[in-house]
Amino acid sequence: MRVFISVDMEGVCGVVHWNQTQHGKEDYERMRRLMTEEVNAAVEGAFAAGAKEIVVNDSHNAMRNVVIEDLHPDVRLITGSTKPMSMMEGLTGDFDAVFLVGYHSRASSTGVLNHTYTGRVAHYWVNGKVMGETGMNALIAGYHRVPVVLVTGDSVVTKEAQELLGDVVTQ
Ligand SMILES: [Zn+2]
Repeated sequence: MRVFISVDMEGVCGVVHWNQTQHGKEDYERMRRLMTEEVNAAVEGAFAAGAKEIVVNDSHNAMRNVVIEDLHPDVRLITGSTKPMSMMEGLTGDFDAVFLVGYHSRASSTGVLNHTYTGRVAHYWVNGKVMGETGMNALIAGYHRVPVVLVTGDSVVTKEAQELLGDVVTQ
């Protein structure tokens, strides 16, 4: 089983302010370590469930947040930007499952650091359905026919994921 993990930061446990998500700002160094530990928890769960190969795509901002020295040693990390497929860079149809970790609720929702891609998007629809980054990236996973099986993040994005994806584990 091959697992693809896209990790964002605004939905990581403990992150509640924009400053905590930006290089050089207050608390960022702490929060990037929490982000890395959240990835490690997902990685350990995936290995325990039988994953043989795991790819982690750092998907937040400049996409070089995960602390490489602290990351589980048995995964491959895609770090840095610009990436053509952005938050889903590296995903192919050869994977069996996608995890979206540290995700946040869509723009104009009530989630703590809600937004969709940039702060300039108020609403984003596909075929009349309002979506955020969870929906946007689940569509890319769907294109490759790989199911999104886990979404972790703030309390609003987990509801968003359930409404959009139905049979998905959220935390
Ligand atoms: Zn982000």
